[in-house]
Amino acid sequence: MEQSLSYDNRIDSESSDQVVNPWEVSAKDGGKIDYDKLIDRFGCKRLDESLIDRVERLTGRQPHKFLRRGVFFAHRDFNEILDAYESGERFYLYTGRGPSSEALHLGHLIPFMFTKYLQEAFKVPLVIQLTDDEKFMWKNLTVEESERLARENARDIIACGFDVTKTFIFSDFDHVGGAFYKNMVKVSKCVTLNKAKGIFGFSGEDHIGKLSFPAVQAAPSFPSSFPHLFPGMDKLRCLIPCAIDQDPYFRMTRDVAPRLGYSKPALIESSFFPALQAKNGKMSASDPNSAIYVTDTAKDIKNKINKAKSGGHQFSVVQHDLGADLEKDIPFKYLSVFLEDDSELELIRKQYGEKEGIMQTGDVKKRVTEILTEIVERHRRARAAVTDEMVEAFMAVRPLPSMFE
Ligand code: ATP
Ligand code: MG
Repeated sequence: MEQSLSYDNRIDSESSDQVVNPWEVSAKDGGKIDYDKLIDRFGCKRLDESLIDRVERLTGRQPHKFLRRGVFFAHRDFNEILDAYESGERFYLYTGRGPSSEALHLGHLIPFMFTKYLQEAFKVPLVIQLTDDEKFMWKNLTVEESERLARENARDIIACGFDVTKTFIFSDFDHVGGAFYKNMVKVSKCVTLNKAKGIFGFSGEDHIGKLSFPAVQAAPSFPSSFPHLFPGMDKLRCLIPCAIDQDPYFRMTRDVAPRLGYSKPALIESSFFPALQAKNGKMSASDPNSAIYVTDTAKDIKNKINKAKSGGHQFSVVQHDLGADLEKDIPFKYLSVFLEDDSELELIRKQYGEKEGIMQTGDVKKRVTEILTEIVERHRRARAAVTDEMVEAFMAVRPLPSMFE
Protein backbone atom coordinates (compact mmCIF):
# COMPACT_ATOMS: atom_id res chain seq x y z
CA MET A 1 0.00 0.00 0.00
CA GLU A 2 1.25 3.42 -0.86
CA GLN A 3 1.74 5.67 2.14
CA SER A 4 -0.93 8.31 2.35
CA LEU A 5 -0.06 11.78 1.16
CA SER A 6 -0.74 13.27 4.51
CA TYR A 7 2.73 12.26 5.69
CA ASP A 8 3.84 15.55 7.13
CA ASN A 9 7.27 17.06 6.61
CA ARG A 10 6.66 19.75 9.19
CA ILE A 11 6.01 17.23 11.89
CA ASP A 12 9.06 15.35 10.65
CA SER A 13 11.34 18.35 11.07
CA GLU A 14 10.06 19.12 14.52
CA SER A 15 10.00 15.79 16.20
CA SER A 16 11.96 13.23 14.30
CA ASP A 17 15.66 12.51 14.32
CA GLN A 18 16.07 12.89 10.58
CA VAL A 19 14.77 15.33 7.99
CA VAL A 20 14.80 14.50 4.30
CA ASN A 21 13.03 16.79 1.87
CA PRO A 22 14.07 18.61 -1.32
CA TRP A 23 15.54 21.47 0.72
CA GLU A 24 17.07 19.80 3.72
CA VAL A 25 18.82 16.54 4.46
CA SER A 26 19.95 16.16 8.04
CA ALA A 27 20.02 13.64 10.84
CA LYS A 28 20.98 13.53 14.45
CA ASP A 29 23.44 10.93 15.54
CA GLY A 30 26.37 12.04 13.39
CA GLY A 31 24.23 12.73 10.34
CA LYS A 32 23.66 9.09 9.51
CA ILE A 33 20.48 8.67 7.49
CA ASP A 34 18.39 5.63 8.34
CA TYR A 35 17.30 4.59 4.87
CA ASP A 36 15.06 1.76 6.04
CA LYS A 37 13.11 4.22 8.10
CA LEU A 38 12.91 6.57 5.13
CA ILE A 39 11.51 3.83 2.88
CA ASP A 40 8.92 3.13 5.55
CA ARG A 41 7.92 6.76 5.99
CA PHE A 42 7.85 7.65 2.32
CA GLY A 43 6.11 4.41 1.37
CA CYS A 44 8.47 3.43 -1.43
CA LYS A 45 10.00 -0.04 -1.82
CA ARG A 46 13.49 -1.42 -1.48
CA LEU A 47 15.12 -2.36 -4.75
CA ASP A 48 15.83 -6.04 -4.20
CA GLU A 49 18.13 -8.56 -5.88
CA SER A 50 15.36 -10.05 -7.97
CA LEU A 51 14.70 -6.70 -9.68
CA ILE A 52 18.40 -6.18 -10.32
CA ASP A 53 18.61 -9.68 -11.85
CA ARG A 54 15.68 -8.81 -14.07
CA VAL A 55 17.45 -5.67 -15.27
CA GLU A 56 20.39 -7.86 -16.24
CA ARG A 57 18.21 -10.35 -18.11
CA LEU A 58 16.20 -7.70 -19.95
CA THR A 59 19.13 -5.51 -21.00
CA GLY A 60 21.64 -8.27 -21.58
CA ARG A 61 24.33 -6.37 -19.74
CA GLN A 62 25.79 -6.27 -16.27
CA PRO A 63 23.74 -3.96 -14.05
CA HIS A 64 25.43 -0.64 -13.31
CA LYS A 65 27.65 -0.62 -10.21
CA PHE A 66 25.24 1.84 -8.56
CA LEU A 67 22.64 -0.94 -8.74
CA ARG A 68 24.99 -3.74 -7.70
CA ARG A 69 26.23 -1.70 -4.74
CA GLY A 70 22.88 -0.38 -3.58
CA VAL A 71 23.52 3.32 -4.35
CA PHE A 72 20.14 3.27 -6.05
CA PHE A 73 18.24 1.43 -3.38
CA ALA A 74 14.54 2.31 -3.51
CA HIS A 75 11.80 2.48 -6.11
CA ARG A 76 8.17 3.03 -6.91
CA ASP A 77 6.68 0.74 -9.57
CA PHE A 78 10.04 0.01 -11.20
CA ASN A 79 8.77 -3.57 -11.46
CA GLU A 80 5.88 -2.31 -13.60
CA ILE A 81 8.29 -0.53 -15.93
CA LEU A 82 10.18 -3.82 -16.32
CA ASP A 83 6.94 -5.78 -16.90
CA ALA A 84 5.92 -3.34 -19.61
CA TYR A 85 9.37 -3.35 -21.18
CA GLU A 86 9.38 -7.13 -21.22
CA SER A 87 6.10 -7.16 -23.11
CA GLY A 88 7.52 -4.82 -25.75
CA GLU A 89 6.33 -1.46 -24.38
CA ARG A 90 8.83 1.37 -24.19
CA PHE A 91 9.17 4.19 -21.65
CA TYR A 92 11.01 7.50 -21.28
CA LEU A 93 13.34 8.79 -18.61
CA TYR A 94 12.98 12.09 -16.78
CA THR A 95 15.55 13.62 -14.48
CA GLY A 96 16.64 17.13 -13.62
CA ARG A 97 18.92 19.58 -11.97
CA GLY A 98 18.36 22.72 -9.92
CA PRO A 99 21.05 25.07 -11.21
CA SER A 100 22.09 26.62 -7.91
CA SER A 101 25.84 26.68 -8.34
CA GLU A 102 28.51 27.01 -10.97
CA ALA A 103 30.39 23.88 -9.99
CA LEU A 104 28.76 20.53 -9.44
CA HIS A 105 30.03 18.12 -6.82
CA LEU A 106 30.33 14.36 -7.14
CA GLY A 107 26.96 13.82 -5.47
CA HIS A 108 25.29 15.80 -8.27
CA LEU A 109 26.86 13.59 -10.93
CA ILE A 110 25.45 10.35 -9.54
CA PRO A 111 21.91 10.61 -10.97
CA PHE A 112 23.28 11.68 -14.35
CA MET A 113 25.83 8.86 -14.57
CA PHE A 114 23.10 6.41 -13.72
CA THR A 115 20.57 7.93 -16.11
CA LYS A 116 23.09 7.67 -18.95
CA TYR A 117 23.45 3.96 -18.21
CA LEU A 118 19.64 3.51 -18.20
CA GLN A 119 19.35 5.38 -21.49
CA GLU A 120 21.93 3.11 -23.11
CA ALA A 121 20.81 -0.15 -21.55
CA PHE A 122 17.10 0.27 -22.32
CA LYS A 123 17.52 2.41 -25.48
CA VAL A 124 15.02 5.04 -24.40
CA PRO A 125 14.60 8.81 -24.69
CA LEU A 126 15.36 11.19 -21.85
CA VAL A 127 14.12 14.62 -20.82
CA ILE A 128 16.23 16.70 -18.43
CA GLN A 129 14.57 19.61 -16.65
CA LEU A 130 16.73 22.55 -15.50
CA THR A 131 14.70 24.21 -12.77
CA ASP A 132 16.12 27.73 -13.10
CA ASP A 133 12.76 29.11 -11.91
CA GLU A 134 13.01 27.07 -8.70
CA LYS A 135 16.48 28.35 -7.91
CA PHE A 136 15.36 31.94 -8.55
CA MET A 137 12.52 31.46 -6.07
CA TRP A 138 14.47 29.62 -3.38
CA LYS A 139 17.93 31.14 -3.57
CA ASN A 140 19.26 34.65 -3.65
CA LEU A 141 19.71 34.64 -7.43
CA THR A 142 18.43 36.93 -10.16
CA VAL A 143 16.46 35.50 -13.07
CA GLU A 144 19.39 36.19 -15.37
CA GLU A 145 21.88 34.49 -13.06
CA SER A 146 19.63 31.42 -12.71
CA GLU A 147 19.37 31.23 -16.51
CA ARG A 148 23.11 31.49 -16.89
CA LEU A 149 23.72 28.77 -14.30
CA ALA A 150 21.21 26.52 -16.08
CA ARG A 151 23.25 26.73 -19.28
CA GLU A 152 26.52 26.21 -17.40
CA ASN A 153 25.07 23.16 -15.68
CA ALA A 154 23.78 21.89 -19.04
CA ARG A 155 27.44 21.68 -20.10
CA ASP A 156 28.23 19.47 -17.13
CA ILE A 157 25.24 17.30 -17.87
CA ILE A 158 26.16 16.94 -21.55
CA ALA A 159 29.72 16.07 -20.44
CA CYS A 160 28.29 12.96 -18.75
CA GLY A 161 27.93 11.52 -22.24
CA PHE A 162 24.24 11.64 -23.15
CA ASP A 163 23.13 10.79 -26.66
CA VAL A 164 21.86 13.92 -28.42
CA THR A 165 19.57 11.83 -30.64
CA LYS A 166 17.69 10.63 -27.55
CA THR A 167 17.98 13.55 -25.11
CA PHE A 168 16.07 16.79 -24.70
CA ILE A 169 17.40 19.27 -22.12
CA PHE A 170 15.15 22.21 -21.30
CA SER A 171 15.05 25.11 -18.89
CA ASP A 172 11.78 26.03 -17.22
CA PHE A 173 12.16 29.69 -18.17
CA ASP A 174 12.33 28.65 -21.83
CA HIS A 175 9.91 25.80 -21.95
CA VAL A 176 6.97 26.43 -19.61
CA GLY A 177 4.00 27.19 -21.84
CA GLY A 178 1.72 25.41 -24.30
CA ALA A 179 1.06 21.74 -23.58
CA PHE A 180 3.50 21.79 -20.66
CA TYR A 181 1.61 24.62 -18.99
CA LYS A 182 -1.71 22.89 -19.55
CA ASN A 183 -0.43 19.91 -17.56
CA MET A 184 0.87 22.24 -14.86
CA VAL A 185 -2.51 23.83 -14.30
CA LYS A 186 -4.24 20.45 -14.37
CA VAL A 187 -1.89 19.25 -11.62
CA SER A 188 -2.29 22.49 -9.64
CA LYS A 189 -6.05 22.16 -9.61
CA CYS A 190 -5.79 18.74 -7.95
CA VAL A 191 -3.63 19.85 -5.00
CA THR A 192 -5.12 21.84 -2.16
CA LEU A 193 -3.11 24.24 -0.04
CA ASN A 194 -3.51 21.90 2.90
CA LYS A 195 -2.08 19.04 0.91
CA ALA A 196 0.88 21.10 -0.28
CA LYS A 197 1.57 22.15 3.29
CA GLY A 198 1.47 18.53 4.37
CA ILE A 199 3.77 17.23 1.65
CA PHE A 200 6.28 20.07 1.41
CA GLY A 201 6.04 21.76 4.77
CA PHE A 202 5.07 25.15 3.27
CA SER A 203 3.88 27.72 5.78
CA GLY A 204 1.92 30.96 5.67
CA GLU A 205 5.19 32.87 5.48
CA ASP A 206 6.24 31.28 2.21
CA HIS A 207 5.63 33.25 -0.97
CA ILE A 208 3.18 31.86 -3.49
CA GLY A 209 5.94 31.17 -6.01
CA LYS A 210 7.02 28.26 -3.86
CA LEU A 211 3.51 26.88 -3.78
CA SER A 212 3.31 26.99 -7.55
CA PHE A 213 6.56 25.18 -8.15
CA PRO A 214 5.70 21.50 -7.46
CA ALA A 215 3.38 21.51 -10.50
CA VAL A 216 6.35 22.60 -12.65
CA GLN A 217 8.38 19.63 -11.46
CA ALA A 218 5.38 17.31 -11.91
CA ALA A 219 4.59 18.21 -15.54
CA PRO A 220 7.54 16.42 -17.22
CA SER A 221 6.26 13.12 -15.74
CA PHE A 222 3.53 13.19 -18.39
CA PRO A 223 4.41 12.57 -22.05
CA SER A 224 1.77 15.02 -23.26
CA SER A 225 3.93 17.83 -21.84
CA PHE A 226 6.28 17.23 -24.79
CA PRO A 227 4.18 17.21 -27.98
CA HIS A 228 7.32 17.55 -30.12
CA LEU A 229 8.69 14.31 -28.65
CA PHE A 230 5.74 12.09 -27.85
CA PRO A 231 2.81 12.98 -30.15
CA GLY A 232 -0.01 10.48 -29.79
CA MET A 233 1.95 8.61 -27.09
CA ASP A 234 -0.07 9.73 -24.09
CA LYS A 235 0.23 6.30 -22.46
CA LEU A 236 4.02 6.19 -22.64
CA ARG A 237 5.34 5.40 -19.17
CA CYS A 238 7.87 7.59 -17.40
CA LEU A 239 10.74 6.45 -15.16
CA ILE A 240 12.41 9.03 -12.93
CA PRO A 241 15.93 8.40 -11.58
CA CYS A 242 16.67 10.84 -8.73
CA ALA A 243 17.99 11.15 -5.19
CA ILE A 244 15.42 10.21 -2.57
CA ASP A 245 15.01 13.78 -1.32
CA GLN A 246 12.97 14.46 -4.47
CA ASP A 247 10.38 11.87 -3.50
CA PRO A 248 7.81 14.38 -2.13
CA TYR A 249 7.39 15.97 -5.58
CA PHE A 250 6.61 12.64 -7.16
CA ARG A 251 4.44 11.41 -4.33
CA MET A 252 2.25 14.38 -5.17
CA THR A 253 2.53 13.69 -8.93
CA ARG A 254 1.59 10.04 -8.50
CA ASP A 255 -1.38 11.00 -6.39
CA VAL A 256 -2.85 13.29 -9.04
CA ALA A 257 -1.93 11.27 -12.17
CA PRO A 258 -4.93 8.89 -12.17
CA ARG A 259 -7.30 11.81 -11.68
CA LEU A 260 -5.95 13.31 -14.90
CA GLY A 261 -6.21 9.98 -16.71
CA TYR A 262 -2.40 9.67 -16.81
CA SER A 263 -0.05 6.85 -15.75
CA LYS A 264 1.81 7.36 -12.51
CA PRO A 265 5.51 7.95 -13.10
CA ALA A 266 7.78 5.22 -11.71
CA LEU A 267 10.85 6.12 -9.65
CA ILE A 268 14.26 4.70 -8.99
CA GLU A 269 15.85 6.48 -6.07
CA SER A 270 19.40 6.88 -4.77
CA SER A 271 20.86 7.37 -1.35
CA PHE A 272 23.11 10.38 -0.76
CA PHE A 273 26.78 10.50 -1.57
CA PRO A 274 28.27 11.14 1.86
CA ALA A 275 30.13 14.23 3.03
CA LEU A 276 33.92 14.06 3.40
CA GLN A 277 33.69 14.47 7.17
CA ALA A 278 30.57 12.29 7.41
CA LYS A 279 29.02 15.14 9.40
CA ASN A 280 25.85 15.63 7.42
CA GLY A 281 23.74 13.12 5.61
CA LYS A 282 25.19 14.20 2.28
CA MET A 283 27.92 15.93 0.37
CA SER A 284 26.59 19.44 0.05
CA ALA A 285 27.44 22.39 -2.21
CA SER A 286 26.87 24.90 0.57
CA ASP A 287 29.57 23.30 2.73
CA PRO A 288 32.82 23.35 0.74
CA ASN A 289 34.52 21.16 3.35
CA SER A 290 32.00 18.43 2.70
CA ALA A 291 32.40 18.24 -1.05
CA ILE A 292 34.64 17.31 -3.94
CA TYR A 293 33.76 19.53 -6.89
CA VAL A 294 34.21 18.64 -10.53
CA THR A 295 36.42 21.75 -10.71
CA ASP A 296 38.83 20.56 -7.99
CA THR A 297 42.47 19.97 -8.97
CA ALA A 298 44.30 16.71 -8.32
CA LYS A 299 45.99 18.43 -5.39
CA ASP A 300 42.66 19.60 -3.92
CA ILE A 301 41.30 16.07 -4.15
CA LYS A 302 44.37 14.59 -2.49
CA ASN A 303 44.17 17.08 0.38
CA LYS A 304 40.45 16.59 0.84
CA ILE A 305 40.67 12.80 0.85
CA ASN A 306 43.56 12.93 3.31
CA LYS A 307 41.32 14.80 5.73
CA ALA A 308 38.26 12.62 5.13
CA LYS A 309 36.82 10.72 8.05
CA SER A 310 38.44 7.33 8.37
CA GLY A 311 37.29 4.17 10.10
CA GLY A 312 40.83 2.85 10.23
CA HIS A 313 43.25 2.81 13.17
CA GLN A 314 46.17 5.14 13.40
CA PHE A 315 48.66 2.53 14.58
CA SER A 316 49.36 -0.23 12.14
CA VAL A 317 49.46 -2.94 14.82
CA VAL A 318 45.98 -1.98 15.98
CA GLN A 319 44.77 -1.77 12.39
CA HIS A 320 46.23 -5.22 11.75
CA ASP A 321 44.60 -6.66 14.87
CA LEU A 322 41.16 -5.13 14.45
CA GLY A 323 40.60 -4.06 10.86
CA ALA A 324 38.89 -0.77 9.95
CA ASP A 325 35.29 0.11 10.72
CA LEU A 326 34.08 0.32 7.13
CA GLU A 327 30.71 1.73 8.15
CA LYS A 328 32.51 4.87 9.33
CA ASP A 329 35.13 5.00 6.62
CA ILE A 330 34.39 7.65 3.99
CA PRO A 331 37.25 6.75 1.61
CA PHE A 332 36.00 3.17 1.53
CA LYS A 333 32.43 4.37 0.95
CA TYR A 334 33.62 6.46 -2.00
CA LEU A 335 35.45 3.42 -3.35
CA SER A 336 32.34 1.32 -3.05
CA VAL A 337 30.47 3.87 -5.16
CA PHE A 338 33.09 4.58 -7.82
CA LEU A 339 35.49 1.63 -8.08
CA GLU A 340 34.43 -0.32 -11.16
CA ASP A 341 36.04 -3.67 -10.38
CA ASP A 342 33.99 -5.80 -7.94
CA SER A 343 36.88 -8.14 -7.18
CA GLU A 344 39.26 -5.31 -6.28
CA LEU A 345 36.61 -3.82 -4.01
CA GLU A 346 36.13 -7.16 -2.30
CA LEU A 347 39.87 -7.53 -1.84
CA ILE A 348 40.10 -4.08 -0.22
CA ARG A 349 37.11 -4.86 1.96
CA LYS A 350 38.95 -7.91 3.31
CA GLN A 351 42.46 -6.50 3.48
CA TYR A 352 41.34 -3.27 5.13
CA GLY A 353 38.10 -4.06 6.91
CA GLU A 354 38.89 -7.44 8.38
CA LYS A 355 41.45 -8.23 11.03
CA GLU A 356 44.92 -9.32 9.98
CA GLY A 357 44.61 -7.50 6.67
CA ILE A 358 47.58 -5.77 5.08
CA MET A 359 46.00 -2.46 4.09
CA GLN A 360 46.23 0.78 6.04
CA THR A 361 44.08 3.89 5.85
CA GLY A 362 46.74 5.57 3.70
CA ASP A 363 46.54 2.82 1.07
CA VAL A 364 42.79 3.15 0.74
CA LYS A 365 43.00 6.94 0.59
CA LYS A 366 45.63 6.71 -2.12
CA ARG A 367 43.46 4.41 -4.24
CA VAL A 368 40.32 6.50 -3.88
CA THR A 369 42.29 9.66 -4.68
CA GLU A 370 43.46 8.06 -7.94
CA ILE A 371 39.96 7.05 -8.90
CA LEU A 372 38.27 10.36 -8.07
CA THR A 373 41.03 12.34 -9.77
CA GLU A 374 40.53 10.29 -12.90
CA ILE A 375 36.75 10.83 -12.83
CA VAL A 376 37.10 14.57 -12.24
CA GLU A 377 39.76 14.96 -14.93
CA ARG A 378 37.74 12.98 -17.44
CA HIS A 379 34.74 15.15 -16.63
CA ARG A 380 36.78 18.33 -17.04
CA ARG A 381 38.06 17.25 -20.46
CA ALA A 382 34.57 16.24 -21.58
CA ARG A 383 33.11 19.52 -20.35
CA ALA A 384 35.78 21.57 -22.12
CA ALA A 385 34.80 19.82 -25.35
CA VAL A 386 31.13 20.86 -25.04
CA THR A 387 30.57 23.73 -27.47
CA ASP A 388 27.77 26.32 -27.51
CA GLU A 389 26.42 24.55 -30.60
CA MET A 390 26.17 21.30 -28.66
CA VAL A 391 24.23 23.02 -25.87
CA GLU A 392 21.90 24.49 -28.50
CA ALA A 393 21.48 21.07 -30.11
CA PHE A 394 20.49 19.35 -26.84
CA MET A 395 18.14 22.19 -25.93
CA ALA A 396 16.46 22.61 -29.33
CA VAL A 397 12.74 21.86 -29.38
CA ARG A 398 12.74 19.07 -31.96
CA PRO A 399 11.45 15.56 -32.56
CA LEU A 400 13.80 12.68 -31.77
CA PRO A 401 13.08 10.22 -34.58
CA SER A 402 15.49 7.48 -33.44
CA MET A 403 14.80 7.77 -29.72
CA PHE A 404 13.87 4.10 -29.22
CA GLU A 405 16.66 2.60 -31.35
P1 ATP B 1 22.97 23.08 -1.02
O1 ATP B 1 23.91 22.59 0.05
O2 ATP B 1 23.19 24.49 -1.42
O3 ATP B 1 21.54 22.70 -0.78
P2 ATP B 1 23.32 20.74 -2.64
O4 ATP B 1 24.67 20.15 -2.64
O5 ATP B 1 22.24 20.08 -1.85
O6 ATP B 1 23.44 22.29 -2.32
P3 ATP B 1 21.44 21.19 -4.62
O7 ATP B 1 21.60 22.01 -5.84
O8 ATP B 1 20.53 21.62 -3.52
O9 ATP B 1 22.89 20.88 -4.09
O10 ATP B 1 21.11 19.69 -5.03
C1 ATP B 1 20.09 19.42 -5.89
C2 ATP B 1 19.77 17.98 -5.80
O11 ATP B 1 20.92 17.18 -6.08
C3 ATP B 1 19.39 17.52 -4.42
O12 ATP B 1 18.05 17.82 -4.15
C4 ATP B 1 19.64 16.05 -4.52
O13 ATP B 1 18.56 15.41 -5.18
C5 ATP B 1 20.88 15.99 -5.37
N1 ATP B 1 22.05 15.89 -4.50
C6 ATP B 1 22.68 16.90 -3.90
N2 ATP B 1 23.68 16.43 -3.13
C7 ATP B 1 23.67 15.08 -3.27
C8 ATP B 1 24.45 14.02 -2.73
N3 ATP B 1 25.45 14.24 -1.89
N4 ATP B 1 24.14 12.75 -3.09
C9 ATP B 1 23.13 12.51 -3.96
N5 ATP B 1 22.37 13.47 -4.49
C10 ATP B 1 22.62 14.74 -4.15
MG1 MG C 1 20.32 21.10 -1.47
